[in-house]
Amino acid sequence: MTDETPSTPTDFIRDIINDDLKTNKNNGKVATRFPPEPNGYIHIGHAKSVCLNFGIARDYKGTCNLRLDDTDPAGESMEYVQSIINDIRWLGFDWEDRLFYASDYFEKLYQFAVELIKSGNAYVCSLNPDEVREQRGTFTEPGKESPYRNRSVEENLDLFQRMRAGEFADGAHTLRAKIDMASPNIVMRDPVIYRIKREPHYRTGTQWVIYPMYDFAHCLSDALEGIVYSICTLEFENNRPLYDWIVEKLITGLRPRQIEFARLNLSYTVLSKRRLIELVEKKYVRGWDDPRMPTVSGMRRRGYTAEAIRNFCAGIGVAKNDNLIDVALLEHCVREDLNEHAPRAMCILRPLRVVIDNYPDNQVEQIACANHPQKPDMGTRNVPFSKVLYIERDDFMEDPPKKYHRLGPGREVRLRNAYVIKFESMVKDEKTGDVTELHCSYDPATLNGPPADGRKVPGVIHWVSAGHAVPAEVRLYDRLFSIENPGNEEDFLKYLNPDSLETLTTCRAEQNLKNAAAGSRFQFERLGYFCVDAKDSTSERLVFNRVVPLRDSWAKIAGK
Ligand code: ATP
Ligand code: MG
Repeated sequence: MTDETPSTPTDFIRDIINDDLKTNKNNGKVATRFPPEPNGYIHIGHAKSVCLNFGIARDYKGTCNLRLDDTDPAGESMEYVQSIINDIRWLGFDWEDRLFYASDYFEKLYQFAVELIKSGNAYVCSLNPDEVREQRGTFTEPGKESPYRNRSVEENLDLFQRMRAGEFADGAHTLRAKIDMASPNIVMRDPVIYRIKREPHYRTGTQWVIYPMYDFAHCLSDALEGIVYSICTLEFENNRPLYDWIVEKLITGLRPRQIEFARLNLSYTVLSKRRLIELVEKKYVRGWDDPRMPTVSGMRRRGYTAEAIRNFCAGIGVAKNDNLIDVALLEHCVREDLNEHAPRAMCILRPLRVVIDNYPDNQVEQIACANHPQKPDMGTRNVPFSKVLYIERDDFMEDPPKKYHRLGPGREVRLRNAYVIKFESMVKDEKTGDVTELHCSYDPATLNGPPADGRKVPGVIHWVSAGHAVPAEVRLYDRLFSIENPGNEEDFLKYLNPDSLETLTTCRAEQNLKNAAAGSRFQFERLGYFCVDAKDSTSERLVFNRVVPLRDSWAKIAGK
């Protein structure tokens, strides 16, 4: 591998860059940007774009800017800016001193617009928004030219200046690029590039009452920052000729190039900001960082690692056609990463009391348990063992089938890292008939090995010592939606999964977890991966989020 060879599998965007480098098209410059609008938290789709843009900068020793694309004041806020900054940092990317705001370019963009007017390439149109729409034409019919299209440069300059000065009502005039009302591409039919909108901006306040449209602001922001590759999603394909038109009219020297790729769609969730905002505002979830949300902050709180998300983004690649990625693949990446790094621990989700009748009353043994079965370097921890334990309720059956290798009348089972125990009797609630306690005996010779007489005990279950374990709440998450592609449904809220959250409040975690740090992750033996909830967990009451269960449905699909 040479220095120029990207470490990431190549894709059509990297192919374009490689070709440019070969012909020395931009003097070898590679500059990208990630341009989120601060009107929501970023989600896994944005993460894909973050990994792509920052990944290219890293691989080619170029730069990637973070630009808050904040030219439309509606819904934008500093809270969103802060969340975006935190989330991209957490994902592991760094823009050094290149944090930019498109709103810092408002004056420059205004001057660009003045230039367009002066060169006869823009005019102030006084049709109202409905009229502009009506005259735009359709796919099959050309549009009609605005009666204001041939205003003089002087009149346009005067009106545009007065638009800025706040002399006109919202919607009274717009500034339009003078291109071609008969263009087969509707985007090119004299698009609006400035509009009057009296809405305070979270950064510029009431300083501006006119705001540039996305198509005008974005390409020029790219040019102002010296961006070479302006990577965006496919829905902007038709806007590319407009991007090029504006850049060609106003920019000399290096001109940025727009390249479109397919946005990420993920099964069983929605990735439209408008819809995510609706979920948050109508309280279908507990905020942007609800662990069921496809947001970066939701996934972080759930316990996903940045590395797993980066691996996922690298693995799905960059396509030119829209597709729907199976969320099981993301979960697979999370599981692979946690299997490698998460220490093991024991926790009982639905406790059933077990008394070991032949174990000395006040004895406590410290049993050394490996923190990771394949990684001795991760060390061991002591787990207390005593006469009264908890096991999982479903590790006991009163009338088990033959193949059930756990506890039942007459059966034996091994307690993980500890002894073999044998069922002796059970206690039932008189009213409900539910089993409330088991009595067992233990075989003292089985701590570090199989029973001396050679009998086989195939089952292994996890346990905690009742007198030592700490109470915990465990939140089990399932998919937020019950259908594969809720994003396709107008009425998407109808498909929310009513069982996406199950809260278990009587769990018992091994003593060692008492002081586990917020956000730390464990494999609870036999149950899955769990993460200490960074918001709700306290030393009095631990709260765990289930990151993913152990079973890997993706590995099954992929035949691994
Ligand atoms: P929405 O369409 O849901 O409102 P958006 O795409 O407008 O979201 P932006 O903040 O403008 O959100 O997006 C910032 C960048 O992230 C853009 O370059 C956009 O193309 C990219 N992006 C957004 N969603 C996805 C996605 N699902 N997959 C890949 N990239 C995405
Ligand atoms: Mg956008």
